[in-house]
Amino acid sequence: MIRMTGLDAMPIPMSESVACALDRVASSGNFVLGPEVDRFEELFSTWTGVRRVVGVGNGLDALALGMLALGIGPGDEVITTPMTAFATVLAIVRIGATPVFADIDIQTGLMSIQSAQRSLSKRTKAIVVVHLYGHVKEMKTWVDLCESEAIFLIEDCAQAHGAREDGIHCGGFGIFGAFSFYPTKNLGALGDAGAVVTGESAISESVKRLRNYGQTDRYHHVALGLNSRLDEIQAAVLSEKLRWLDSFTIRRRHIAERYLNEIRSNSVETLMPPLQRENHSFHLFVVRTHSREDLASHLLKNGVESLIHYPVPAHKQSAIKEFRADPRGLANAERHAEECLSIPCHPGLSDDDVSRVVRAINDFGS
Ligand SMILES: *Cc1c(COP(=O)(O)O)cnc(C)c1O
Repeated sequence: MIRMTGLDAMPIPMSESVACALDRVASSGNFVLGPEVDRFEELFSTWTGVRRVVGVGNGLDALALGMLALGIGPGDEVITTPMTAFATVLAIVRIGATPVFADIDIQTGLMSIQSAQRSLSKRTKAIVVVHLYGHVKEMKTWVDLCESEAIFLIEDCAQAHGAREDGIHCGGFGIFGAFSFYPTKNLGALGDAGAVVTGESAISESVKRLRNYGQTDRYHHVALGLNSRLDEIQAAVLSEKLRWLDSFTIRRRHIAERYLNEIRSNSVETLMPPLQRENHSFHLFVVRTHSREDLASHLLKNGVESLIHYPVPAHKQSAIKEFRADPRGLANAERHAEECLSIPCHPGLSDDDVSRVVRAINDFGS
């Protein structure tokens, strides 16, 4: 079976250095917010080129803590896309703000800037751009829009480790970027982990307090924070795995380029490719088809796993009761949710695996 992730097959040198990291932490006597966290924050800052990095418990908290640090809360609106991991929207609701959904561009699955403009109101405090599937696109237009409206630009980078535009790593365009290191992400821990990246030291200092009960010095609390500390084991593992990330990203892009060149079918469409190679981390490779169920079962019969990202757009989730949306509706997001299918795209795939996936898709419906 050609699987959606290759998590059980780390390259041997990587699993050796991960094992060393685990030993190192186990005998260090430091387990939460210690020198390994400091080291990872510094390495990730150098790697992204974003000045401040604060390790937190997960990607959801990275978004929520960053927004709390900006003072966003009840009465405020935050515009985002309904075609994202639910955590993006949950973070907005958790801090007491109201999500406002803009529609997507059907060619990319990314939030439409025209729809976001139609969704603005006097209460809009921020826009959360999600680099869906790893695609970083037209960030200058988002920066300009947010500047002219005097609102915050926030980046959900949970799927886009390694993706840049004009040489700037994602997370470097907005007031802050939120990363997840959930095991299946392009850089994954051996459990939950996340980070806030920002150029603003006021924000990084605030997130540092908020991740640890809102305390400055031990037992002195200046804010009502939460417990979202990064632990030493995850930080040490991430520091080791970071050394492989660039080569893994190159491999993902190579696989994606083969899919883009070789998938030729009347019933299966690929999404719009990135303008530049660096613009996409290919966390997921997504196709669209009118006969998704049939395609998924055809693939499975041919030994190829697939998944749907995402079958239910956020505004259709029963947990989301209060929201606003683009007055023209969210038709593209709803259509994408019905037609999208993610096919295997990860560094554990061999060239043969990729050929098998291509053949299975091109055979479909012919
Ligand atoms: C995974 C993900 C998150 C949430 O990250 P967790 O670490 O699982 O909390 C947020 N946004 C997007 C786009 C994601 O893919």
